Amino acid sequence: MASQEDVFKKLVAHCKEYGFVFPSSEIYDGLGAVYDYGQNGVELKNNIKKYWWDSMTLLHENIVGIDAAIFMHPTTWKASGHVDAFNDPLIDNRDSKKRYRADVLIEDQLAKYDEKIDKECEKAAKRFGESFDKDMFCQTNARVQEYITKRNALHERFAKAINDNDLETLKQIILDEGIVCPISGTKNWTDVRQFNLMFSTEMGSTADGAMKIYLRPETAQGIFVNYLNVQKTGRMKIPFGIAQIGKAFRNEIVARQFVFRMREFEQMEMQFFVRPGEEMKWFAHWKEFRLKWHKALGLGDHKYRYHDHDKLAHYANAATDIEFEMPFGFKEVEGIHSRTNFDLSQHAQYSGKKIEYFDPEMNQSYTPYVIETSIGVDRMFLSIMSAAYCEEKLDNGESRVVLKLPAVLAPVKVCVMPLVKKDGLPEKARQIMDSLKFEFHCAYDEKDSIGKRYRRQDAIGTPFCITIDHQTLEDDCVTIRYRDTMQQERIKISDLHDIVDKQVNMKNLFRKIME
Ligand code: ATP
Repeated sequence: MASQEDVFKKLVAHCKEYGFVFPSSEIYDGLGAVYDYGQNGVELKNNIKKYWWDSMTLLHENIVGIDAAIFMHPTTWKASGHVDAFNDPLIDNRDSKKRYRADVLIEDQLAKYDEKIDKECEKAAKRFGESFDKDMFCQTNARVQEYITKRNALHERFAKAINDNDLETLKQIILDEGIVCPISGTKNWTDVRQFNLMFSTEMGSTADGAMKIYLRPETAQGIFVNYLNVQKTGRMKIPFGIAQIGKAFRNEIVARQFVFRMREFEQMEMQFFVRPGEEMKWFAHWKEFRLKWHKALGLGDHKYRYHDHDKLAHYANAATDIEFEMPFGFKEVEGIHSRTNFDLSQHAQYSGKKIEYFDPEMNQSYTPYVIETSIGVDRMFLSIMSAAYCEEKLDNGESRVVLKLPAVLAPVKVCVMPLVKKDGLPEKARQIMDSLKFEFHCAYDEKDSIGKRYRRQDAIGTPFCITIDHQTLEDDCVTIRYRDTMQQERIKISDLHDIVDKQVNMKNLFRKIME
């Protein structure tokens, strides 16, 4: 069986070969951790964004959207704490000259203990069969107990060091745990240093004093500085939310794993403003709602899990991640944070403007508390692609690569194929395509054998292929072929619309998540 790493490499190659993702400025050998989306990638990405946007703004009458500029007044980032505290602890290996995030090295070490515990459990489960009791085994097996103790001790020490911003202890943990550089294999580490992740540039001409400004590292601040504008002009009543999709930029130290960690990426963020004291109720609400949104796509419920944070960001009083099982393990796709009233209070202080809400029911003014849901479009894209990518052996000995994308997100919904390029079949095929194309993204393909055409559509995840043959001219029926099962069926042209619509209409997903 191919290793997960091989699968990931194949997925990256597939993304390039089929027009999903290209390295940025590739003719100049690319630019580190920056990527361009190709003709199919952009469709998938747009569908993800639509699924998110509509689930916020259509399904919730108290959530509205905005589109703030990427450039913001530089004081924004002083107020938000990013100038002083948006740092990653980095460490270099002197032998390989490679740079790592100290916190990530330690988190990987924690994951190794978890893997060891899981392995022991798996072995025991095989040995004991039906009667295996995992909890009991973990409590009584000496080896597992040793791993659990070590893991917990490391976890506690790490959490304290991170929260205290104690860089010396972070380094000591790396030394004590015997963590080696994956490239050089040595423990020849430098001290741990803080590194600010914001990109900066200059606005205005240098002659009359240019202003140093930042490329936003998150879209959220564009929402906070517009809180009053939206609340007043939209006559919004608490609780209410503001949603936004847009680019964010971070000078990531270790940028790898394809579109998982990029220096330029896109976020979909929603800030939900609530009464002080009600934030935990809303935090729980959004945690649940967001997971439902993910699961409704049908990629497999077991691929998701929550991960509660040990290190709370400087603004948060509760935080959890929704993690997805990528080819390289469970990784964060979305963060849900209770941000208190930190941001609005800071902006009030730095701007000198009163940023409050008068609550008519309480007959009182206050600075609202905020629950944030923040998801990366690119990470979502990667999670979907990795769950969808599938190599299958067929009964006839051949194999195929198929992207089992959720039909609602697939770049192309229907490919229309005349069996041959003559006898009026192309004309009939065009007619069918014209009747569908205002609603569904359609492709037309008349080149090569039908089998080859199916493979091309499988590789980009098209859920339906429609073949028009000579019989079609007589009975107005076509052959529909389903991507996942490869089953073919003869159906009436007049039924086509409803069959496709049932699978690709987002309405059905929205119903599911509102149940
Ligand atoms: P990580 O710990 O992986 O660096 P984070 O906790 O800093 O992520 P947040 O600040 O919570 O991430 O950002 C919200 C979301 O934005 C993340 O869940 C992720 O989906 C996305 N995101 C953050 N950084 C990147 C990046 N460099 N490339 C792609 N997506 C990103």
